[in-house]
Amino acid sequence: MKVPFVDIAEQHRAIEEELREVFARVLESSSFILGPEVLKFEDAFASYLNASHCVAVNSGTAALQLTLQALGIGCGDEVITVPNTFIATAEAISAVGARPVFVDVDPVSYTMDPKAAEDAISPKTKALLPVHLYGQPADLDPLLAIARRNGIALIEDACQAHGATYKGKKVGTLGIASCFSFYPGKNLGCLGEGGAIVTNDPEIAEQVRVLRDHGSIRKYQHRVPGYNFRMEGLQGGFLSVKLKYLESWNERRHRAATKYHEALSGSPLILPTQMPYARHVYHLYVVQAEDREGLRNRLSDAGIETGLHYPTPLHLQQAYSGLRYQTGSFPVTEYLSRRILSLPMYPDLTDEKIEHVASVLLESLQCSTFNQEKIAA
Ligand SMILES: *Cc1c(COP(=O)(O)O)cnc(C)c1O
Repeated sequence: MKVPFVDIAEQHRAIEEELREVFARVLESSSFILGPEVLKFEDAFASYLNASHCVAVNSGTAALQLTLQALGIGCGDEVITVPNTFIATAEAISAVGARPVFVDVDPVSYTMDPKAAEDAISPKTKALLPVHLYGQPADLDPLLAIARRNGIALIEDACQAHGATYKGKKVGTLGIASCFSFYPGKNLGCLGEGGAIVTNDPEIAEQVRVLRDHGSIRKYQHRVPGYNFRMEGLQGGFLSVKLKYLESWNERRHRAATKYHEALSGSPLILPTQMPYARHVYHLYVVQAEDREGLRNRLSDAGIETGLHYPTPLHLQQAYSGLRYQTGSFPVTEYLSRRILSLPMYPDLTDEKIEHVASVLLESLQCSTFNQEKIAA
C-alpha cells in the first residue's frame, strides 16, 4: 500500500466546486491583486483567531520580514530564535540586517527553551522569535515574561500552527505580532504562495500594510521604500473557502495522531508529546528513532513516504557559517536532528494507512533490535 507524506489533492477534491467558484468570480472581476477577496479573508482570519488585525502578504517569509521591519529591527540588532526550524525564520532576521542568535530547545516540546532564551539576551537583543514547531505551541508564558522584563518584543512564528492553542487561546494572538504561512502543505494553505501578519497593535498593522505595497498609502504616494509582498486575489478567495474547514481538518489530524499513538505506544520510538498547556495541531507527526535512516529506508521500500524536519540545524548550515557556531553549540537540537522522522500526516490519512505505517514500523524496529543483538553477541 502506497502512503504519501501529504495528499492535498484529496483535500481539494472535496471542495473543488467552491474553489472553482472563486476562480470564476476573480476571473470575472479581474481583481487579481489584493482587492475584496483578500480583504474578506483578512477579516475572517482575524476573527477566527480573535485578533484585531490581519494583513495578508505573499509568503510566511515576507510576513516575518515585514514584522521585524515594522518593529524597527535592523542593522546592529539581535533577534533570538531557534536553530531547529525552517530556514525562513532566520532568513527574515538576516533580511532586515539583524543577527539571528540561536538558542537550544526543550527536549520534550522541541520548542524554544525559556532559560536558554533568557541567558542569550544582550543589550542588542530586540526580540524573541519562538517557533510553534510541527503544530505544537512554544511555552509562551515564561517567554512573554522574559520579553516584558527586558523590554523586548515577542513575535510568534506560527507558520506551522494555524488553530493551535496555548492555555485555551489561539496562538498568533499572544505576542506583539505573529506570522503565518499559507504554503500549500501547511494546515491552512493557498493554491500557491501566501502568508499573513496578525496583531492587536494598530500601528504594526498599519506599518506592515504600507510596507507590503511599495510603502504606499494611496497609489503613487510612497511614505517609505517598501516591497511588493501583496497577496493575490485568487489566494484570498481560496483561503476564505478553506478557512471554514480548518477546525475539522485539525480535528482529523488530531484523530490521526491519536491513532498513531495507540498503534506505536510501547515501541522504542519516542512519540510526540502534546504539552499540558497546548492543543497541538499536528502539522507534522514527528517521532524519534535510534536507527532513523534504517527505518526510513524500510518504510520507503514499503511505499511509505517520510520527511525530515529538519536534518541540518540552522547553526550548521553553510548560509550561517558566518555566525561562527559549531557542532556541539546546541546539543538538544543536534541530537534531535539525528533522530527525528516525520511520518505521513494530513487530514485525509485513513486508519487503514496509519495501521499499515505502524505495522511496517513495528516490524522494522524488531529487525533492527534483532540485528543489534546479533552484533552485540
Ligand atoms: C513554512 C514556514 C515558514 C515560511 O513560510 P513560506 O510561506 O514558505 O515563506 C517560516 N517558518 C516556518 C516555521 C515555516 O514552517
